Parts: sequence; C-alpha cells; structure tokens
Amino acid sequence: MATDEIIVTAEPTSLKRVTAKSKRATARIITELCTGCGICVKTCPINCITIVDSEWNFTGIAKVDEHCTGCNICAIDCPWTGVEMINPDGSRKDEVEYERQLKKLRGYH
Ligand code: SF4
Ligand code: SF4
Repeated sequence: MATDEIIVTAEPTSLKRVTAKSKRATARIITELCTGCGICVKTCPINCITIVDSEWNFTGIAKVDEHCTGCNICAIDCPWTGVEMINPDGSRKDEVEYERQLKKLRGYH
C-alpha cells in the first residue's frame, strides 16, 4: 500500500434512528362516536383535520390526515370522546383515558 493513501470512513454519529418506538401516537377518529361537530377542526394546531361525508350521520365525521403530530389536543377537546390516540404498535395511549376520566369527573359530558 502506498504511504500517501488515505482511507476515509464515514461514521454517522448524529443520525437519528427512526423506529416504531420513537414514532409518536396519532389521532384516530371513532366513527361511531364522532358527530361531525367540527370542534377538533378548530382546535388542531396544524389544521390536519377535516370534516368529510359519512354514512354514519348527515353532518359528516372528522378525518385526520398524515401530518398529525400526536399532540392529543383533539382527543382532549372532543366533547363526544370521538378521538382516540393510537400508538405505533396499535395500542391506545393511556393519557387520553386519564383525560376522559377527568372530563367525566368535571361533568364535562
Ligand atoms: S372528533 Fe369529536 S370534536 Fe371532532 S368533529 Fe367528531 S365529535 Fe366533533
Ligand atoms: S393529535 Fe394534535 S395534530 Fe393530531 S389531529 Fe389531533 S390536534 Fe391535530
């Protein structure tokens, strides 16, 4: 090997691995409970919810797009408990249950 040969190795020290564990929960509309009231459309901070036609009712139901950040706000604000937060593994996020129980205790619905 020549003495002036340089071997360069790339060590990606700052690469962030995106795995199922690091991905956040996302909002899912419970079609049987959603009344299409539109409250979540107004409270979602990134405007990723729209009301779409539905066979479930005449007022439509909410639909969450792929930009959902999992902030929980829609799930907390929905007066009909029509939103659940789903972890990447398909399980429900517990904090929402706590919020729902808190709302019931407050007589919110
Ligand atoms: S998910 Fe809840 S807040 Fe959103 S439109 Fe349906 S009932 Fe209203
Ligand atoms: S969890 Fe947050 S970002 Fe996702 S739909 Fe609900 S309010 Fe919007």
